[in-house]
Amino acid sequence: MSEVMTDDSLIASLSQSDQLRVILETSPAAMVVIDDAGIIRGFGKAAQKLFGYSEEQAIGRNVSLLMSAAHAAQHDTYLKRYHATGERRMMGFTRVENACDCNGHVFPVEITLGEAHVENRTYYIGFLRDVGEQLADRRQLRDILDELAHASRISAMGAFATAIAHELNQPLTAITNYAEGVRDILARRSDLADREQLVEILDSCSKQAVRAGQLIHRLRDFVRGGRPRIELTDPAALVDNSVTLAMINGFRRDVRLEITIPKGLEKVAVDPVQAQQVLFNLIRNAFEAMHAGEGAGGRLRIEVMPHDADHIEFVVEDSGPGIDPQVADRMFESFVTTKGGGMGVGLSICKQIVESYGSSIWATRSPSLGGAAFHFTLPAGRESDVEEKE
Ligand code: ADP
Repeated sequence: MSEVMTDDSLIASLSQSDQLRVILETSPAAMVVIDDAGIIRGFGKAAQKLFGYSEEQAIGRNVSLLMSAAHAAQHDTYLKRYHATGERRMMGFTRVENACDCNGHVFPVEITLGEAHVENRTYYIGFLRDVGEQLADRRQLRDILDELAHASRISAMGAFATAIAHELNQPLTAITNYAEGVRDILARRSDLADREQLVEILDSCSKQAVRAGQLIHRLRDFVRGGRPRIELTDPAALVDNSVTLAMINGFRRDVRLEITIPKGLEKVAVDPVQAQQVLFNLIRNAFEAMHAGEGAGGRLRIEVMPHDADHIEFVVEDSGPGIDPQVADRMFESFVTTKGGGMGVGLSICKQIVESYGSSIWATRSPSLGGAAFHFTLPAGRESDVEEKE
């Protein structure tokens, strides 16, 4: 560390600079300043708290110290490429990455990077926000994840059960009708020795087919059973939590995330777990579409805005290849997928949830990012709505 500092008095003066020092010490955001070689030159108070390193421990070290192993390995290459090509992969955009604290705990942070030029040298200033911190603690996050995973399974089972009930209804009815037809024919054939026994068997056959139909319908009602818990929910919190969940599930790499939510937007009257599930499914699809399209990279934009007097609109847009015209008019149905290992239930779950609130979901092409844009609305709510619904 001291080697680099004495090598370059400018760098030393930068980290000693009074203005910078005041900012580093007082900024509520965790700030990290690095030079063009990736060496940490400034390490603010909030960053010290976030990562558990003191200023002395961090300054002079490579910034990969603060990253998870996978990202750390790539970081020097990113910096070199940026220098060589000026390609703006991160600059000025907010994105989410996994960071690593002094105890080796990996946690998600939202990073906004800025760039400063001081006497022919380039410095990068990173503003970091612990995404997980918005949720009271990690335990609560785990609970939400468990709840979401549970809700996902229940919804997937619900979608399966509904589709299976629908598909099996026809053949089961046909079996019952054929069995009854044969039974009636046999009943008239007095010449057959085993007639009564055969009629009995056919009776049981049609009774069992009817019973199978009832069982499937009961299963569907059972998995649909859980009542949603409607709450007045801040759209920004829904978006934040869903992004965190998507990230924890590994969807983050190289994607620039832009979130636009106007201040003072009305709240929505929904079960937050259900609403997050819709957002999560759409974010997951966007990441998968971008990944399938061009490998790494891509842009994801989430926007929330008023729709009409009673609804708030959410939009999830990506820079992927857009929707395959072959599935465009069927993709909200169960089991429609263009992915090798896809189940094709994600969008049908979204539709089920959104429509249960009397709202709608639809897709367009994103005018600015070029990929798919999924829009859905949710009911705007006031305190009185929630009391009435409960
Ligand atoms: P799955 O993800 O298992 O295929 P979904 O119901 O979530 O099931 O999606 C159905 C289909 O809709 C996908 O297979 C894909 O063809 C299309 N689709 C969904 N989201 C996007 C998107 N963001 N970009 C392009 N196509 C999409």
